[in-house]
Amino acid sequence: MAEIIQSIRGFPDILPPLATKRAAVCVLIRRVLGQFGYQAAELPILEKTALFARSIGGDTDIVGKEMYSFADRNGDNLSLRPEATAGMVRAVIENGLLQQVSRFFVEGEMFRHERPQEGRSRQFKQISVECFGIETAALDAELLAIGEMVFQELEIRKAVNLEINSIGLAAERVQFIAALREYLSRYENDLDTDSKRRLTTNPLRILDSKDAKTQEILRSAPNLSDFLGAESQKHFEDLRGYLEALEIKYVINPCLVRGLDYYCHSVFEWTTGELGAQGTICAGGRYNGLVEELGGKPTPAAGFAFGIDRISLLKEKIAPTTDKQADFYILATSEKEQITAIKWARDLRAKFPELAVICHNQFQALKKQLRKADMVSASAVLIFGEAEVSANQTTYKNLQTGEQKLLSFEQLCQLITSTTP
Ligand code: ATP
Ligand code: MG
Repeated sequence: MAEIIQSIRGFPDILPPLATKRAAVCVLIRRVLGQFGYQAAELPILEKTALFARSIGGDTDIVGKEMYSFADRNGDNLSLRPEATAGMVRAVIENGLLQQVSRFFVEGEMFRHERPQEGRSRQFKQISVECFGIETAALDAELLAIGEMVFQELEIRKAVNLEINSIGLAAERVQFIAALREYLSRYENDLDTDSKRRLTTNPLRILDSKDAKTQEILRSAPNLSDFLGAESQKHFEDLRGYLEALEIKYVINPCLVRGLDYYCHSVFEWTTGELGAQGTICAGGRYNGLVEELGGKPTPAAGFAFGIDRISLLKEKIAPTTDKQADFYILATSEKEQITAIKWARDLRAKFPELAVICHNQFQALKKQLRKADMVSASAVLIFGEAEVSANQTTYKNLQTGEQKLLSFEQLCQLITSTTP
């Protein structure tokens, strides 16, 4: 036998039933985004490495150690996208879409070379939501309202915490970073290794540290909020006012700074305690400077990304959906009856688009066919034997209740209409 070629570490196969459930999560998110007026965009998975280096920032974990970068056959330096915002910004600039307010979402695979574990893989899926052209906190509130509606409808809101913070403007952060660096360097030897390195590369990220000792030191550190000017403070207060009006529950996390360089004003994360260390299921913020940074005219913007892998895991954990593959499983006793069976199946699918109708398509003993119907958790079977076909009827058997009766097509339709909500 030939040697089996295995998949690459961190690149999971996502199979049924999980794939089906993830697809349902994505359908729901796309529908909510449509209700808010966001439109789908499809962008390349591969971009020039410079795009990410310039937008996400050279000393972030993503660019520093997580990107899949390589030179292609022409020697161009390319990277698999680690996130979708940079590509979206590039696309709106390149396609001249900055004249008006525009709302987009990008659904697709992202790639980061991280240590694979549950809820963390090297290929993973996001739905990234971006809006260009609006400066007010009303937009930030709109984004949070999208998340609120999605998590409510997925029935996982009770397991999700919305954390928000304001990181103000770059100039305000410069002053804060200087004060933070000054304070932390007094405790340099007590910091964890990553934080010690970040003291020179990116002190803001030390606020993110999960190390107990570092967190202890941070408790008396200067507060970012004390460095925010009047404009930044108003933006944040406006956002809080909108959230209160919409009755969206949140907590302010003063240590929330996000890993990417391009944020300003609002940053936010939806977290859960149900998924161990991989607790952030969705995250984003405002990125007013990014369009200009990438060569476009100055344009305010904000966005966030749904982490589909973790959202689906959470949904399955706390509000699981059933594994049913078929509503009707259709059995025929021979090829002759199969002709009638496939026509009924066609007509049922046309009349009830929401139902899954599977034909067994093999003429085995009825017992064997019924076993297969059980395996796919069908709700009911329709049996086509010689007697049924000559009477233009089917034997309907409800697999939950055991109820069994002969029905014409009309009667079957009535039954479906009366039993489906
Ligand atoms: P983390 O702190 O868990 O590494 P992050 O801050 O790097 O997350 P973002 O860049 O904000 O994540 O991406 C938004 C969302 O995408 C995350 O909240 C998460 O749900 C998902 N995500 C990010 N990286 C991965 C990954 N390697 N595997 C699965 N999902 C991921
Ligand atoms: Mg990460």
